[in-house]
Amino acid sequence: MTAEAGFAEPHRFTALEAIVPGVVAGITAVPPGDGAGSESDFGLATGGSAWDVMRRYEGLARAVGASTVMVGRQVHGTRVVEAGAIQASGVHVVGEADGLMTSIPGILLAVTAADCVPVLVADVSGRCVALVHAGWRGAVAGMLEAAVRALGERFEVTPPDLAIFLGPAICGDCYEVGAEVLRAFGKSDRGPAGLDLRSELSQRAIESGVPRDRVMRSEWCTRCGPVTFHSHRGRGVDAGRMAAFLGLRGESPAPELPATAGA
Ligand SMILES: [Zn+2]
Repeated sequence: MTAEAGFAEPHRFTALEAIVPGVVAGITAVPPGDGAGSESDFGLATGGSAWDVMRRYEGLARAVGASTVMVGRQVHGTRVVEAGAIQASGVHVVGEADGLMTSIPGILLAVTAADCVPVLVADVSGRCVALVHAGWRGAVAGMLEAAVRALGERFEVTPPDLAIFLGPAICGDCYEVGAEVLRAFGKSDRGPAGLDLRSELSQRAIESGVPRDRVMRSEWCTRCGPVTFHSHRGRGVDAGRMAAFLGLRGESPAPELPATAGA
């Protein structure tokens, strides 16, 4: 890519890219000290003006060779929306959706997070992908399972066809939660105690039928390192959001209409 002012090269999830042909997967980088509203903030609610946030997504798309980015308004729910044929390149924001999926090359799915877990789901033969955002509420509500189910219903892939990568997120040592959250995960409610969201999600992926050796995770913690990220626990309301991304490499089929002179 050509480096752009203010745009840091994204981290790539090579463990997933290595086993799924044509997949592009990663998360945006955060220079030390960046917070809400900075050039590394992809949050629709925290990043600043719509103009600036859209420009950052366009930069991300260019950096990974995609023409179209799709992002949902995340509400800690379990809705999965399909990115089908899109009529123009650019940044597309859909309504309430914590999960996105597609089978169309050239469309980059994106979810934002700052401690929550980006869950990347890919058919190992490279036919389709899904990307979800899961905090503790989404994990308990079955967001990961919803994505596995949605891929099956729409693209007829079964859990043994899938690989899952759990991106950078807050670690169990940094994520102390109270009795209410522990109870929701079926644990002893004598809190507070640390909760490792990625371990919980790994377990759910395996119970869904995804092969154990294809349930992978980043070891990076968004709060304690070793790489700098936005962390809601770390910075509170001053935290920005990373964009985790997942797509299938290739030209987007979206036709570009000719510019209309004098319009
Ligand atoms: Zn940590």
